Amino acid sequence: MADFVIHVNDIDVQGKQYRFPLAASWVQTALVDADLRADPEAGEGVVSVFAQRSGADILVTGKVEAGVLATCIRCLEDAPIPVNAELGSLFSSRGDVRRPAPGEEDFSEDLSPEELARETFSGDEIALDDIVRDNIILELPMQPLCREDCPGIAVPEHVKPPADFGETKDADGVDPRFAGLKGLANQLSPKEE
Ligand SMILES: [Zn+2]
Repeated sequence: MADFVIHVNDIDVQGKQYRFPLAASWVQTALVDADLRADPEAGEGVVSVFAQRSGADILVTGKVEAGVLATCIRCLEDAPIPVNAELGSLFSSRGDVRRPAPGEEDFSEDLSPEELARETFSGDEIALDDIVRDNIILELPMQPLCREDCPGIAVPEHVKPPADFGETKDADGVDPRFAGLKGLANQLSPKEE
């Protein structure tokens, strides 16, 4: 089920503005594979687009604003990511797209980045869900952090060494708390003197 659908027949050369709420339920289903979750603190996002007919094509431009939760790479807790992504795609009716025949030269490598954002649609509806999804994912930092100075996974108190560990040493450079072990070691392998 697509959440962001525009009807081709509603769109003329003057264009039409759309504003879709971006619900938490959409984030949970569309972005689960990208390890993203809805951020309850950020509230509902919005997809606002302007759709305009350009010949047989439909030009869609706009933006996605939302708050999602990624996973902090250091502590594995939630990392809130504000999304503010631009959208820009030219939709051609599927019948208009001509694919190169086998053996025929393929010019697709000559396409500019602008032209690469070409999409197709069939029928009289265009679902923007895929481009909304892709553009959100493109906005994400490579290494999400819950906060800039995240210290990583906290070491539990009971497995932490004492703060002064290693600071006091005896003549042999051994922490006095290991005196017992040192004595035992000396008994087991007496120093050759
Ligand atoms: Zn973190």
